[in-house]
Amino acid sequence: MARVFTDLDQYLCLDASELAGSTLQCPICGRAHQVPIGKIRIGEGLIDELPDIAAAILDGKPHKTALIYDRAIEAIIQADVIDPLTSMNLALVGLGESDTLLEPLEELGDEVAGQIDDDIDLIVGAGSGVIADLTKWIATKVNKPFILYGTAPSMNAHTSITATMTRNGVKTSAWLTPANAVLFDVPILAGAPKPMLLAGLGDLVARTICNADWLLGNLLRQTYFCPVPFQLTGMGEPLYLQSAQGIGQGKKQDVHHLGEAILISGISMTMVEGNTSPSSGCEHVFSHFWDLQAEMDDAPRNLHGIQVGVGTLLSHTLWDFMRRLDIDGIDPERLLRQRPSLETLRSENQARFGSKAPLFDEAILSKWIPDEQFMTYIGNVLDNWQAIWEALVPYIGQWKIVQGNLESAGFVFSLDTIRRTRQQALDALIYGSRYRARYTLLDLAWELGILPGAADEILDRSGLG
Ligand SMILES: [Zn+2]
Ligand SMILES: [Zn+2]
Repeated sequence: MARVFTDLDQYLCLDASELAGSTLQCPICGRAHQVPIGKIRIGEGLIDELPDIAAAILDGKPHKTALIYDRAIEAIIQADVIDPLTSMNLALVGLGESDTLLEPLEELGDEVAGQIDDDIDLIVGAGSGVIADLTKWIATKVNKPFILYGTAPSMNAHTSITATMTRNGVKTSAWLTPANAVLFDVPILAGAPKPMLLAGLGDLVARTICNADWLLGNLLRQTYFCPVPFQLTGMGEPLYLQSAQGIGQGKKQDVHHLGEAILISGISMTMVEGNTSPSSGCEHVFSHFWDLQAEMDDAPRNLHGIQVGVGTLLSHTLWDFMRRLDIDGIDPERLLRQRPSLETLRSENQARFGSKAPLFDEAILSKWIPDEQFMTYIGNVLDNWQAIWEALVPYIGQWKIVQGNLESAGFVFSLDTIRRTRQQALDALIYGSRYRARYTLLDLAWELGILPGAADEILDRSGLG
């Protein structure tokens, strides 16, 4: 039975466990914010409770359970998951290779779904965010109940109702069946490799800017926005930022704060029906674009959260640049004359992105303001410039302080960290807005004629290299 809340202050005090199965009748936006995940737990020794949790889900002991995991951490899975679950009849489904980063490929998900036998009545996905996304995909395909058991708090996928899947090299969000239970065992999380703990911090600090992107879309394009997810993820923010150093050292108490925040971050998207905007803005666009470079140009693959952390610094620099813009010299008529036509953009996409160009064309078209409306649109933006920024500023975090917190954990903000060249970073700034239909500050920067021209200067100011 879902617990229904109407009092926002009471709702914001709920922790991740208490948010499981909850509904907020939102006093701000009027919608019902539901968290349709049956059980969320963070603590110690949860693997020993998993058989009982499974029995409660199925109303009886499972007959056969498929255990999906990443072969890269096979030894950890054997010791921490398989050995303690000897009472369960496990069918092992190892994915990937021992020495490569697992990719959430739709093709892989489909292939594994085809191997799930009829006599399997429960699926357990044990691993980090990629295993969580793949398990959600597979369980949805075969329509079986599932438990996600996190081994690393490196991204916010476990409690998210969507998965970021890769189709033909492009990341897309897929709406999937929610997990029956999500379990975060703190000692296991704390033992995760340091880069995965830093990646968790990197994914979380997107909050310091991404809700400004979300609100910007609402102000300029009248898309839906609600401030409650931002308020909810704000409750634990001081805790994990102040614990950053201990998180980098794998201290259990500090990693507990990180794990809790990662769970809440996933919930912030689930509660708005899987809209990822509360935890994903420009910085995620950059990260997805860098993933595209791995696919198209053989650039190295990195942990999602590490790219998002670096992308968040770049996003803050772009936001700061735009905020300081002197708009007196901006002439809507000149902008209309100078902006590249749809035709020009399409042929540019064809030249740069080849077979993937139609996806980019589609994203551009979905946000395109026709010529006859363009001057009025820009005029409105300029007339309301001050008011727009006054609305946005509460959603922009104190980046210098946050950066210092992450650096104390060992996070290095540079292009070297994500193994990208200056040109590859510039490409993400310039072409990122074509990657997906969602409106962000990157789009406004194009509309006001700031991009592509200022990309170099913005990257310089970021200090990323
Ligand atoms: Zn709301
Ligand atoms: Zn993320």
